[in-house]
Amino acid sequence: MSIKESLLTIKSELPDTVTLVAVSKTKPVSDLEEAYAAGQRIFGENKIQEMTQKWEVMPKDIQWHMIGHVQTNKVKYMAEYVSLVHGIDSLKLLKEINKQAKKHNRVINCLLQMHIAEESTKFGLDKEELDNLITSDVFKTLENVNVVGLMGMATFTDDKNQVKKEFATLKEIFSSLQSIKSTNLDVKILSMGMSGDYKLAMDQGSTMVRIGSSIFGSRNYS
Ligand SMILES: *Cc1c(COP(=O)(O)O)cnc(C)c1O
Repeated sequence: MSIKESLLTIKSELPDTVTLVAVSKTKPVSDLEEAYAAGQRIFGENKIQEMTQKWEVMPKDIQWHMIGHVQTNKVKYMAEYVSLVHGIDSLKLLKEINKQAKKHNRVINCLLQMHIAEESTKFGLDKEELDNLITSDVFKTLENVNVVGLMGMATFTDDKNQVKKEFATLKEIFSSLQSIKSTNLDVKILSMGMSGDYKLAMDQGSTMVRIGSSIFGSRNYS
């Protein structure tokens, strides 16, 4: 299937309540252009430098999502244009994003990444760290960031029950946060689900899926 066909097939499976992030990491600009021509306007990348190079050459009505682990010293390169940062796992990182966003007179939307998988290699906060972050005095002073939701990755396993359980846990935390609102906290996006598990994620209440290989084909890391 072509990129266009894959994209349109996946889109036809998503209800209106679920936003598709086309994960284009490692893929050439020509692949992104094909998806763009098929109507896709939200792209996800996991390396700031690669995303910035693509942002420079692609049409300016694209929303760029940073879905990978963010290095504090690289935030400055994306602060001008990034539309959503999915992988926030510390107050330190949020402070840096706030600082760089201020320089560009912007408010940058962010998702807090929760650790829901069994693997210890996956980044993210646990519930206690989440609570500490959002109730801290420093967080409330960050005027140039907006926390608009949560992101999580399930364990990489064939065990559907395990994946379902992890997504359900994330959804529960998400729901519990929706009643807490402050000037820079208004939780409405639940980013969960990738090529292998987005249907399970949608069943558990995902509002944003991040899909790469099912659109662009498998990636070659060389
Ligand atoms: C690469 C990546 C995806 C997309 O993975 P696919 O399995 O190719 O759909 C989604 N989310 C994150 C955080 C990723 O790094």
